[in-house]
Amino acid sequence: MKNFNPADNIQDLQYFGEFGGVNPSISDSSTYTFLSAKTMFDTFEGNAEGCYLYSRHSSPSNLYLDKALAAMEGTESANVAASGMGAITPTLLQLCGSGDHIVSSRTIYGGTYAFLKNFTPKFGIKTTFVDITKLDVVEASITPNTKVLYCETVSNPLLEVADIAGLAKIAKKHNLKLVVDNTFSPLSVAPAKMGADIVIHSLTKYINGSSDTVGGVVCASQEFINDLKNVNNGASMLLGPTMDSLRSASVMKNLRTLHIRMKQHSHNAQFLAEKFEQAGLKTVYPGLKSHPSHELYKGMINPEYGFGGMMTVDVGSLDNANSLMELMQERNLGYLAVSLGFYKTLFSAPGTSTSSEIPMEEQAEMGLTDGLIRFSIGLDNDIQRTFDMMEACMVELGILKTEKA
Ligand SMILES: *Cc1c(COP(=O)(O)O)cnc(C)c1O
Repeated sequence: MKNFNPADNIQDLQYFGEFGGVNPSISDSSTYTFLSAKTMFDTFEGNAEGCYLYSRHSSPSNLYLDKALAAMEGTESANVAASGMGAITPTLLQLCGSGDHIVSSRTIYGGTYAFLKNFTPKFGIKTTFVDITKLDVVEASITPNTKVLYCETVSNPLLEVADIAGLAKIAKKHNLKLVVDNTFSPLSVAPAKMGADIVIHSLTKYINGSSDTVGGVVCASQEFINDLKNVNNGASMLLGPTMDSLRSASVMKNLRTLHIRMKQHSHNAQFLAEKFEQAGLKTVYPGLKSHPSHELYKGMINPEYGFGGMMTVDVGSLDNANSLMELMQERNLGYLAVSLGFYKTLFSAPGTSTSSEIPMEEQAEMGLTDGLIRFSIGLDNDIQRTFDMMEACMVELGILKTEKA
């Protein structure tokens, strides 16, 4: 999206604190006074602009972060939540009820997969999981009861790329809502600008970037955000996954450096992916020409922010993967931990961790092999040094035969 630069939108926000502070004041209240009883009634009815009711509904601090994230995604409005799952689950429950159907990518975050596979059927919501890269398969899976098309821009953990513009066309044609989890590609991809109706992030990952909190956001039209927050039937209001004001203030401070971090994550990941591939390892990274969706993704991203910080390397077996991860941690190359977006590299074997909700035979079918290591590449200043040290670990364990620096 050439004319849409989310980092500029974030930079241009100007909020002052109560006493002229350069940071907005943090609202440290769960409830709010009204000068007149009539205003209280109007606020409950949703008619009083600028009035706060109760912090499960909204708070000044959360509204600042909402606005910043809506500006980032180019949507009318947004609603932050206490976690990514706290953004995803109310969204789907708001859009679907008993008898409704969802068409979802089969390679999605393990928690979202478990929610759709095991939890929503209790409410009469059925989901068909498909290979999201095949638009004809996606369209063929739509039934008269389908309400939602669900995907991740870049999928977890296999880094498949969803053709958002193509999916948006299908969604429009069949009158569905296209819901996109953009957690892996903030700033790089602007799904709403390509026709997505609702864009979700786990703020826990890149956007907060310091692995010190969980958080989430739903970015959408004002109408949908109002629906989520409706006191009578809004899933966010009634299920209560509210983010705390102190946290939303801290996430907002981290959001301001997201553009600098994303550039460095992408730069480092591109460098390592090229080196690992040259060394003969099976490497998956959307910035590599060998990635099946490289050309598609290149056309979708804002090139300034690159192809992102996530990559996978297949080291042949679970034993290899485990020994390598332990050795890399011992050598201080990163942490054996789930999650992503931290300043240090994080690595995990998704088959036995973040995607363990997915049954083994389904894992095999989607190409999630035992020896797969998922890397969230850190902000390392000297990435050549990192590569040299990682390569030495691989040679030591016999995963790579010779050093070809
Ligand atoms: C982590 C993650 C989630 C869930 O977010 P939480 O903040 O852990 O609740 C959802 N989608 C993706 C792609 C994720 O990586």
